[in-house]
Amino acid sequence: MGVDEAIGDVPVDRFAQSAAAPAPKDSAKSAPRAAPKARPKTPPKARRAAPAPENAAATALDGIKTLAELAEAVAGFEGCPLKRTAKTTCFARGSEEAKLMLIGEAPGRDEDLQGKPFVGRAGKLLDKMLAAIGLDETSVYITNTIYWRPPGNRTPTTQEIGSCEPFLARQIELLKPEVILLLGGAAAKSMLETTEGIMRMRGKWKLYHAKERDIPTLATLHPAYLLRSPEAKRYAWRDLLMLKARLDELP
Ligand code: URA
Repeated sequence: MGVDEAIGDVPVDRFAQSAAAPAPKDSAKSAPRAAPKARPKTPPKARRAAPAPENAAATALDGIKTLAELAEAVAGFEGCPLKRTAKTTCFARGSEEAKLMLIGEAPGRDEDLQGKPFVGRAGKLLDKMLAAIGLDETSVYITNTIYWRPPGNRTPTTQEIGSCEPFLARQIELLKPEVILLLGGAAAKSMLETTEGIMRMRGKWKLYHAKERDIPTLATLHPAYLLRSPEAKRYAWRDLLMLKARLDELP
């Protein structure tokens, strides 16, 4: 719980490694080393993005009034380096009338080939999850925190997410969803500006602060994670029931 990514197949004891490492040759003569300085904690907001691409995005956003215009602006945007390695731009799929907006992490291989979010294995599972609460592409709008596939499906960096964030913020403004569902830790962390793990964050209503209003937002487990860990589906099911109850309350 709280651990959401494995970075190696076998554990490595870094304490044992540093104790066994040979001392530098002249260590006896040299002055004692100062204790390493504690790294200053940077608030999540400040770590978000390199300023240059955000400014580039802000300029590209000038005068955009519709989602179609926004899709065009995203397709022409050169401020996110992932665009250079991706085959297509993945903007969105679903209905522009939807009350529910889903935001995932990043396009994968199938999405990159087809130019649409969540069309691969994880997308098929997502469609089944939505169907289980009576929803489909005609009643939801699906996008990602970034519009281009990171090479090898790695997690996007905060800079990459930051460079696309002004577009995503405008996408939310234009769509005007009543409710947002965040799929997985990367989307939840960047949209809710938190460092909490997805296991702690899921299943709790939060607010996404859009320009003109706060939008009720729920985080749940990513369908790709559920494919790897089917035993976690019970948590996602609880989240889906919470979501359905909220949607049922809407006028
Ligand atoms: N995973 C995501 O987060 N988004 C996609 O579009 C596909 C897989």
